[in-house]
This record gives sequence, C-alpha cells and structure tokens, in this order.
Amino acid sequence: MNILIINAGSSSIKYQLIQMPSELIIGKGLIERIGSENATVKYKTKSVDTEEVMLIPNHSAGFKKMATLLMDPDQGVIANVNDISIVAHRVVHGGNTFSDTTEITQEVKDKIKELSILAPLHNPHNLEGILLAEEAFPTARQIAVFDTAFHQSMPVKAKKYALPNELYTDHRIQAFGFHGTSHKYVSEKAISLLKLKSSKIITIHLGHGCSITAVRDGKSVDHSMGFTPANGLIMGSRSGDIDHSLIFYLVNNLGYGMEEVNALLSKKSGMLGLTGLRDLRDIEAKAKTGNKECILALEMNAYRIKKYIGAYTAAMNGLDAIVFTAGIGENSSTLRSLVCTDMDYLGITLDPAKNESKSSNIREVGSTEAKVKILVVPTNEELEIAKQAFGLS
Ligand code: ADP
Repeated sequence: MNILIINAGSSSIKYQLIQMPSELIIGKGLIERIGSENATVKYKTKSVDTEEVMLIPNHSAGFKKMATLLMDPDQGVIANVNDISIVAHRVVHGGNTFSDTTEITQEVKDKIKELSILAPLHNPHNLEGILLAEEAFPTARQIAVFDTAFHQSMPVKAKKYALPNELYTDHRIQAFGFHGTSHKYVSEKAISLLKLKSSKIITIHLGHGCSITAVRDGKSVDHSMGFTPANGLIMGSRSGDIDHSLIFYLVNNLGYGMEEVNALLSKKSGMLGLTGLRDLRDIEAKAKTGNKECILALEMNAYRIKKYIGAYTAAMNGLDAIVFTAGIGENSSTLRSLVCTDMDYLGITLDPAKNESKSSNIREVGSTEAKVKILVVPTNEELEIAKQAFGLS
C-alpha cells in the first residue's frame, strides 16, 4: 500500500511517498518559497535526484507540480492517482478534540479550521493541504496525524495553568504540547535501543521550532511548549519563555500594537533576534570568529535547555537517557556539548570524540561510565505518520 505523507507549511510543501508495511520510501520532495518566481522544487527517487527553480504561485500549483512529478512517465514512481491509497497529513494543532490519528471528514476539517486560532502559522496551511489533496487524489483516504496527540497523556498538574478554573473547563486553556510525532518516534527508538523496561527519558527536538519532553514509560508527562508552539526553549525566531508582563509593557510604554508584539515574539526573536541570523550553522560560524553576540546566543540557548533537563529530571525523579534530535540536535556537536557541560551532578557526561563524529545513524555520544545515556536519534516524522496511518487502515 502506498501512503503519501504531506506536511504543508506557510510557503512550503514537504512530501514523501512510502510503501507500507515495508517502510520503503519510493519518492520524496520539498517545494519551498511557494508564492515566488524562484520557488525550489526538489524531487528524489531511487533513480532521480532533481532540483528546479521555477514559478510556483500558490499551494495549488505546488500540489499539481508534486502530482505531475510522481506520475511523470520518465521520472515518476506511480502510474496514476489510484496508486495512492492514503494521503496522511501532518496537522499541528488538534487541541483537546483529537487525541489520535483520525480519518478526515467534513467535521474534522471544520474542527481543524476552528483550531487555527491556536496555531495561526500552521493549521490554515495544513487544512489547505488537505483540501488540495482531496482534489488531486480523490480516490485516496485522507488521514490527519496531530502534533499534539502524543502529549494528551500529560497529567493535569503539568498541563493546567494556574488561572481561574473556568478558563480550563470552559475554554480549553491549557498546555497542549507539539512536535509529538517526533518526540514519540525518537523516544521509542531510544527505549528499544537501550532495551529499557521502565524508562525516564528526556527528548530534545531542536529544529527551527524547539521543544523538550519528559517521557516516562513511553508516555509524554511534561513538555516545554504550551497553549501554542511559542513557549519554552529559545528557537530560530521565537523567544520561548518570557515574563508575560513584557507584552503589556511593550504595548503601554513602548507603543507597540498587539499584532506587532505577536510578530516580535514569534518571528523576530529567538536566535534571530539575538544575532540577526536564523540558521544555526551561520551563528556557529560567526561565533568561531569571536563574535560576542553569537557566542552569548549559543550559551543562552544551551542554558535554557539545561534548566529544562533539571526540571524534568526532578519531575520524573530520575533520568535514564537524554535524546537529541532534529536539524540542530542531530548535527550540532557544539550545542550538544554546551548543553552537556557541567551536568555531571545529574549523571550526564559527554564523550567529546563520539560527540564530534559525524553520522546519520542513531548513536550514543555519552561517556561509557556516565549514569545517563546520551543519544542522537535522527527523527523521522514522515515514517511515524505513515505507521500511524497504516495502523488505521
Ligand atoms: P524544521 O523545524 O524546519 O524541521 P530542521 O529540523 O530541519 O527544522 O532544523 C533546522 C535547523 O537545523 C536550522 O537552524 C539549521 O541551521 C540547523 N542545522 C542543520 N544542519 C546543521 C549542522 N550541520 N550544524 C548545525 N546546525 C544545523
């Protein structure tokens, strides 16, 4: 059975065609900078690896391009649309409504739309992806996999805010948690690699968005992102934790409008706000030349992660392993080293040589005598989504 995984963002469509249950990737690609004349269209199969720069005016055109590539007589991997049994969509916010992978109906689409208010940067694009996929692949079942689902297991004491009760009961105001597909996938890999029966693991997802989860016996019990994906760690352009009074100060004393504050905190802050740069590779390169702002930003980023590791170790009353994943977690030995320095009190010590060694495989980078295992686990959200969609079939 062929399952097409769709991750539709504000200006991008990431896709993967996976054969299940063999888990074989038949084709994959990424269309970026949608809305511009210089959109990049990447497409890869066993025998093809192409990249084109072209006009992709909107998501609809992006979808058509993807379908054309997959069905191309020379470069394609399927004969026609009927060869795709399921289109599985990554949907960021499922609120309290969706605790599991779900078949998409009109009711589900209405709910995803309603939840857009909680994830305005993500849900509207996820929904647009669903509507376009229904058009492009009319015979396929459409399934939604929610980023929030894995965190439904968080106990009330972890997910409820200390606000008047009716905001929780009547208005669903609580921490939901995000990147759930990734935290689930890498924590299961770690449990299986370490052959743990009962387990206390901290998974650290560091990409453009960054989050950290306490995973007890395979279940999320606490998580750094909250009501929306804004809270917690320092991210590419999001501030993470701040004192909320700052918002009132910005509005009342510095003349900001509410929309400007929102844009400031979600699009102009984080590593971008601290250094003027968004990509960690550029920040690391500049730090190496002695740039003080970049050095401090890396230290601040690691310091925030260290504090969460301490908090979650206390919350679980122990720690078996920490897991680094996503673009930065998998590739930045510098940040891993900053996070794991002076953490021996908690049983965390890195092996510098293992940490520096480059690999795209799951690996241990901690010193052999350390109490806590330190793992790098490449995340694979697409495969996890395919598994969940296949499980529903
Ligand atoms: P997304 O959240 O969009 O899925 P990714 O998981 O792809 O993001 O992570 C993107 C981040 O990973 C970027 O900040 C990028 O700089 C960083 N990154 C990728 N490769 C490296 C590397 N070799 N060293 C340091 N950072 C890296």
